[in-house]
Amino acid sequence: MADFRFELISGGASGPRLGRVHTAHGAFDTPAFLPVGTQGAVKTVSPEEVRDAGAQAILANTYHLHLRPGERLVRELGGLHRFMNWDGPILTDSGGFQVFSLSELRTLTPAGVTFRSHLDGSSQFLSPEIAVRIQEDLGSDIMMVLDECLQYPATYEQASASLDLTLAWAARCKDAWRGRNALFGIVQGGGYPELRLRSVAGLRAIGFPGYALGGFSVGEPPALMYDLVGATAPHLPEDKPRYLMGVGTPADLVEAVDCGIDFFDCVLPTRNARNGSLFTATGPVNIRNAAHAADPGPIEPGCPCAACRSYSRAYLRHLALCRETFGLRLNTIHNLSYYQRLMAGVREAIAAGRWAAFRDGFRIAQAAKRD
Ligand SMILES: [Zn+2]
Repeated sequence: MADFRFELISGGASGPRLGRVHTAHGAFDTPAFLPVGTQGAVKTVSPEEVRDAGAQAILANTYHLHLRPGERLVRELGGLHRFMNWDGPILTDSGGFQVFSLSELRTLTPAGVTFRSHLDGSSQFLSPEIAVRIQEDLGSDIMMVLDECLQYPATYEQASASLDLTLAWAARCKDAWRGRNALFGIVQGGGYPELRLRSVAGLRAIGFPGYALGGFSVGEPPALMYDLVGATAPHLPEDKPRYLMGVGTPADLVEAVDCGIDFFDCVLPTRNARNGSLFTATGPVNIRNAAHAADPGPIEPGCPCAACRSYSRAYLRHLALCRETFGLRLNTIHNLSYYQRLMAGVREAIAAGRWAAFRDGFRIAQAAKRD
């Protein structure tokens, strides 16, 4: 872990923070948004296009890469960075979320979870120790402990029992970790603030280089997520990075930064792009709408991305209706650029001491969009 270090530039235990996460594959500035490269690729775009959009780090999914092509092959070919030609920081999840969301016929025991592969139906087993080993073989810079991902809503008793299992698994992950990269604990506890705090206390007692908040964006109202994140984040160690997993909308990111979160990942910008839903400062644009049929303008005036620099809404609508893969790529480039510009704006506002004005302006613009 000699290469992993979190540099807190400004801010404290609560409220917006400015920082930098250092890894063996370079650093990324926080608050940050990590695009998702589920199968070792950010869907439809190249690593160069991901970097050109402003991203400094990405996420890859352990579950998918474990099932195909397998972590041993990736390791033999020099690790995930070389395999996918991304030389910046890579964060991997533990695979737990996909086991609990994608696979069928799960059998959960204290030892681990047995599940059927969604690819070929084969029986698979994932334990805390195996989850760490897979991520080490992939060569991840930031690894996650294996956690049980609860369905929402869950009762207090379900959430409490799940939390105990997740804490026991976190301790086993820490024991299995060989320390070459960073391992993050994951705060669980469902929708119950007292369980979230019990989770934080348990994880702090084990001790991790960073802390993730899991179990959000699973169908709960945004206001509940903001309340829980706001109640939890101040209890995490001030000098360690905080990562809100699988979140979220532009509004989610701004509100969570306000609560003291340092970085995020989410499929939203890339998945929405492939559905023709494009983010702009004045609200989402559905590029398939007839209103854009003869529009010579860009998706978002002033956007420096390759799609907005050279292509009209009319052309992008045409590509979307024809299902041309080039359209998926241009849409993805724009949405990635939007998210990275949002985070750059967040960092600039914090650095310049005008966070409150930035946040309030963003909230007003969001409220206007709903009208
Ligand atoms: Zn653009």
